[in-house]
Amino acid sequence: MNYDSIVIGAGYAGLMTAYSLMRGGQKVLVLAKGYGRTHLATGMIDVLGYVDGERVTRPLEAVARLRTPQPGHPYARLAPESLRAAMALFLNVMSEAGYVFAGSIDENLLLPTAVGAVRPVALVPQTMVAGDVREKTPLVIVGFENFKDFYPELIAANLARNPLSITARAITLSLPTLENDADVAPMILARAFERAEFRRKLAAQLKPHLKAGERVGFPAVLGVDKAPEVLTDLQTHLGARIFEIPTLPPSIPGLRICRALERLLRQGGARVQIGHPVVEGRVSGARVEAVAVKSAARLKWYAARNFILATGGVAAHGLEVDSAGAVREPLFNLPVANVPAPSQPRFAAAYFGEHPLSKIGVNTDSEMRPLSVDGRPVLENLRVCGALLAGAEPWKEKSGEGISLASAYQAAQVILESRK
Ligand SMILES: Cc1cc2nc3c(=O)[nH]c(=O)nc-3n(C[C@H](O)[C@H](O)[C@H](O)COP(=O)(O)OP(=O)(O)OC[C@H]3O[C@@H](n4cnc5c(N)ncnc54)[C@H](O)[C@@H]3O)c2cc1C
Repeated sequence: MNYDSIVIGAGYAGLMTAYSLMRGGQKVLVLAKGYGRTHLATGMIDVLGYVDGERVTRPLEAVARLRTPQPGHPYARLAPESLRAAMALFLNVMSEAGYVFAGSIDENLLLPTAVGAVRPVALVPQTMVAGDVREKTPLVIVGFENFKDFYPELIAANLARNPLSITARAITLSLPTLENDADVAPMILARAFERAEFRRKLAAQLKPHLKAGERVGFPAVLGVDKAPEVLTDLQTHLGARIFEIPTLPPSIPGLRICRALERLLRQGGARVQIGHPVVEGRVSGARVEAVAVKSAARLKWYAARNFILATGGVAAHGLEVDSAGAVREPLFNLPVANVPAPSQPRFAAAYFGEHPLSKIGVNTDSEMRPLSVDGRPVLENLRVCGALLAGAEPWKEKSGEGISLASAYQAAQVILESRK
């Protein structure tokens, strides 16, 4: 079968490109080795949280200011309207999936983290909104005796220490029906929250401890597929506003997003094949003709008119770094920019320092086509998006999801426009 577009990768970038192309009427195939960073990151959408170590209040304005001092940044190559349109699309898609998001790219919210710091973030699921610490009502952070890696006392103590004068205290509860499990996994707990009886018992345990006007923060495990329903029901039982705080991986909120996108893609007629690593591309002249997936004893080739490479950065193996510091893009051997010379250090001494290796990636033109070192497109029908792009430091800037969504949007628009 021939496809209009084949998307390689199933993180934010791959899934959202596939969604836009499918909605644009294309026959789409997604091939991915595994799931993306969705399952590890917070499940929030960062657009731009920090520039030069300074917290960003207005992300859209800060992105516009970034373009001149950082011309190599992905945001500098993306049209300003792509960012706004990509975020609007994401909000619509999540609403369509029944997992509503709130926030905007005009102003960051300020939400508690799993260690009780506060982080600027643009879009968050409705289940997290009530945690915004710009509001001054007191917070109660709830943890569970046998749910490890979430420490309500640490979160509350660090929030209380914050210069924003946040009032916070901690409560630890036992888990009804799960008391005898030594270590409850996030997925088990999320499924437990989907049971009405579990919620009723938990709320009965918690309610006597709450004071009027307090907001209640839970680890982000309030259901997998029914989070909005779980949130509403718990709020009714408790008579208080509640919110989720992202936990350490695995990320249940990220998993919700991925499941929602995968479901919408399949319902819309796209084919999604996870567990299908692409191992090779067949190129003729300046065009990709087909990509191969390794199956049982042979290679299986898939042909299309357009290809989208959304294979992520080093962690996802979109880029490979060997022990000598050589960097390669493994599927099409695309030129990789910002690679430190062999004689130069790859990492800074300080963890939050400027790591020379951190901005490596593929440079593209505004049509998201990969560029050679002298700035010419190397493949006409291949678009690159997401964490594979050169020039950003997503962890430090808090820009990862914004770049992935905006570049996905731009890549899809270029492909759809070129068909007209
Ligand atoms: C633990 C963690 C926390 C993070 N926290 C933040 C944060 O707070 N703020 C922020 O801005 N950013 C954060 N990031 C980064 C952010 O999540 C990423 O920048 C963004 O999600 C990247 O999305 P992507 O779709 O481009 O790539 P990915 O999500 O990495 O997806 C890559 C996809 O490509 C697939 N793939 C790779 N190679 C192949 C192949 N050969 N064949 C087929 N498929 C292939 C992978 O299986 C995967 O599906 C975090 C990342 C992690 C891991």
